[in-house]
Amino acid sequence: MEDILTETSFYNRLVLGAFLPNRVWDPLPHFLQTWLRNYIGANLIYFVSGFLWCFYIYYLKRNVYLPKDAIPSTKSMLLQISVAMKAMPWYSLLPTVSEYMIENGWTRCFARISDVSWPAYLMYLIVYLVIVEFGIYWMHRELHDIKPLYKYLHATHHIYNKQNTLSPFAGLAFHPLDGILQAVPHVIALFLVPIHFKMHILLICMEGIWTANIHDCIDAKLWPAMGAGYHTIHHTTYRHNYGHFTIWMDWMFGTLRHPTDDDMKKM
Ligand SMILES: [Zn+2]
Ligand SMILES: [Zn+2]
Repeated sequence: MEDILTETSFYNRLVLGAFLPNRVWDPLPHFLQTWLRNYIGANLIYFVSGFLWCFYIYYLKRNVYLPKDAIPSTKSMLLQISVAMKAMPWYSLLPTVSEYMIENGWTRCFARISDVSWPAYLMYLIVYLVIVEFGIYWMHRELHDIKPLYKYLHATHHIYNKQNTLSPFAGLAFHPLDGILQAVPHVIALFLVPIHFKMHILLICMEGIWTANIHDCIDAKLWPAMGAGYHTIHHTTYRHNYGHFTIWMDWMFGTLRHPTDDDMKKM
């Protein structure tokens, strides 16, 4: 997997070179460089998407999407940021380990689309996404159903159970192990289906943006996306809408609950 090692080394130089003096990161082993790059990247996605989105919905569009009393306090946002910050070094470890496995050729990841063919590429991508939808749904559901897992891991994320305490910054406010477990389907999928390396990285980055978005409590009504309207219900009933990008798995396994206007008003 020469190609992928060249590619990841390039990403490391690109990100680390932009944020740190060379003498700090250059002597580090490749694995640590990758971890540091993932850590910086994860923070960038978290803060840039979080701040921009908060600025837009709470300031520029004040009273348009959310009534005034539904705007979370600065204190609750800072609390979410502090939970996320404690977990971030650990989250960054997961893509670092998965890249290590990819670089060593242990997974079915490929470097160039020409390594397969366009139709195969698209078909693999669909299968990959189905595995991730299925995996994240069940991982999340088990984090609720297996009581010790809920009590010691997932409950950390569920202290935000009212609309005016949820904010985009809750998106990564998990116990570190909880966050990692919910991302594990992305790694499992690497062993089951060939996926383009860049697409795998892109999808991981999208998780960061998506998870911020589904905690803003704004019901976008974009079928079949499992947006914030659905996820807010998850935070209030704990028994519905475990799903990920789409409502598909909840619909299939009988846990789907559509947000009604009444629901959104009540919260
Ligand atoms: Zn949950
Ligand atoms: Zn949540």
